[in-house]
Amino acid sequence: MLEIIYNKLYSHFGPQHWWPVTEKGKLNPEYSGGPKNERQQLEVCFGTILAQNTSWKNAEKAIVELNKNNLINIKKILKIKNKKLAQIIKSSGYYNQKAKKLKNFCDFLSKNYDGKISLLLNNNAEELKKKLISINGIGQETADSIILYAAKKPVFVVDAYTKRILNRIGYKETEYNKLQTLFAKNLPNSERLFNEYHALLVELGKGICKKQPLCGKCPVSRCCGYYEAVSLKRD
Ligand code: SF4
Repeated sequence: MLEIIYNKLYSHFGPQHWWPVTEKGKLNPEYSGGPKNERQQLEVCFGTILAQNTSWKNAEKAIVELNKNNLINIKKILKIKNKKLAQIIKSSGYYNQKAKKLKNFCDFLSKNYDGKISLLLNNNAEELKKKLISINGIGQETADSIILYAAKKPVFVVDAYTKRILNRIGYKETEYNKLQTLFAKNLPNSERLFNEYHALLVELGKGICKKQPLCGKCPVSRCCGYYEAVSLKRD
């Protein structure tokens, strides 16, 4: 069933080219297939922290401000005053906390990996997860987003959209680990597939399977228990 849902989503929305990153000389992140260098890997890591509890639109504005201030840089993040950094990333919400989280992340890289993001991301997925969640301010979803989108290693990212869509379709699991295992057990262990699948679920959750779902426009309505129940009631 999970493969069928993926195929329907992919046919409907097409490739998503995640995670958006900023190309040299530009300020705005673009959907161009993910990071291709260390600077972009670091930007993805910052983006996953900035996107916590907010929309990508708000996180993206903060990335643009970081770009304007040349702050996709571990040393510069460690050097700048907390208050100033918080103002720069204000659009992402919870900015005081997020400024500290960015600093914690950079401090960890500086102390343990000589300030080189590639050395951290070279760990295998399991080790990398352990290390990431040991950093204050990085939870499961952020860690998995870094593993999948910055390190390009196969792990399924579960977010609020994933939970809502899967629950409506008919999967009763709500726990992060159980939902993640569900995807891992029922799909090939592929970074490309997990990258695309998560991005497609976000697309569905943002535009169609919203709080008030627009089931009439949904490409997976035929697989969905919620839609079936609503249709039966109407008939
Ligand atoms: S049919 Fe409706 S409830 Fe089901 S996944 Fe689509 S939008 Fe969501």
